[in-house]
Amino acid sequence: MTWSFTLGRLLGSELRVHVTFFLLLAWVGFAAYSDGGLAAAIENVVFVLALFACVVAHEFGHALMARRYGILTPDITLLPIGGLARLERMPEKPLQEVMVALAGPAVNVVIWAVLMIIGAGMPLEALARIDSTDLDFLSRLALVNLFLAVFNMIPAFPMDGGRVFRALLCLTMDRVTATRTAAFAGQFVAFLLGFAGLSSGNPVLVLIALFVFIAANAESQDVAMRAVARRLLARDAMITSFEALSPQDSLNTAAQAVIHTTQHEFPVLDGTGALLGFVTRARLFAALAGDHPLSDPATSIMDEDIPQVRLTTGLETVLDALHKGAPAVAVCAESGQMLGYITRENVGELMVIRGR
Ligand SMILES: [Zn+2]
Repeated sequence: MTWSFTLGRLLGSELRVHVTFFLLLAWVGFAAYSDGGLAAAIENVVFVLALFACVVAHEFGHALMARRYGILTPDITLLPIGGLARLERMPEKPLQEVMVALAGPAVNVVIWAVLMIIGAGMPLEALARIDSTDLDFLSRLALVNLFLAVFNMIPAFPMDGGRVFRALLCLTMDRVTATRTAAFAGQFVAFLLGFAGLSSGNPVLVLIALFVFIAANAESQDVAMRAVARRLLARDAMITSFEALSPQDSLNTAAQAVIHTTQHEFPVLDGTGALLGFVTRARLFAALAGDHPLSDPATSIMDEDIPQVRLTTGLETVLDALHKGAPAVAVCAESGQMLGYITRENVGELMVIRGR
């Protein structure tokens, strides 16, 4: 997620923007400026803000529907194709998933309908030219909302339509195969978009194609991983041979540990072997780049928010915790002593070995 940054919080979710979203905005802005000069460029800035609001509304459609099923949305990232609401977990009941998926495009359809009622026009020849400056403001906004709704209903991952498609496929096949099929459709769409982008010289379309391709693949892998994880326990995946830090260790000791081991995460254990937190390589590098003295205690940059599980906890629970952003999940005995820990990377390794 290094290609996105935080704007703030809204209705319980962190709002993030992916840089490619700005590429889309910059492209639209540039097109308006070269067509109509400064006045068009100013109108465009206002338009961009309105577009931004519509994409946010789309994502909150997903997030608020998911909340009805008791699922929180920690963050929402805006992308050129309409954004990603990162739900705490996906509802696995097909009907709930369909409702959550449809809620986003439905918001754009509602916005479109409202704009049409208050006077937007819909000339057919403009449908192919979303960056058109010939149209008035309301009509363009209506057009963009129609585009967002239609594009997101393409029955392919990672578009919302892909989730609806998968739910339908799940009626006749298992979830992993259904996901693979919807993801394959996504990669096919990505090729079409990429081809259209290259042949029309539209770099934004090529970027969207790339994003669709990568996201389709990731979704397919994630679901396959979950299917395997359901059969495994925390103890099957945990790292038991590792270097740990003590509360007295300095940043320098942590830096030496990063150099002399292949670990990226270091548990900080007290005298009884209980976990105090994790020092990660990323946090250490950030601290060193920020001119922290090497003599500072390692505990000063420690991540204390580490989920703890038992040996017999299902691996799916561990995956959920890692998905929420924890750098590691600690496996602890009843006495509080840490027995091992699990990272995304070693779950990945386990999947390669056990997931065939
Ligand atoms: Zn959506």
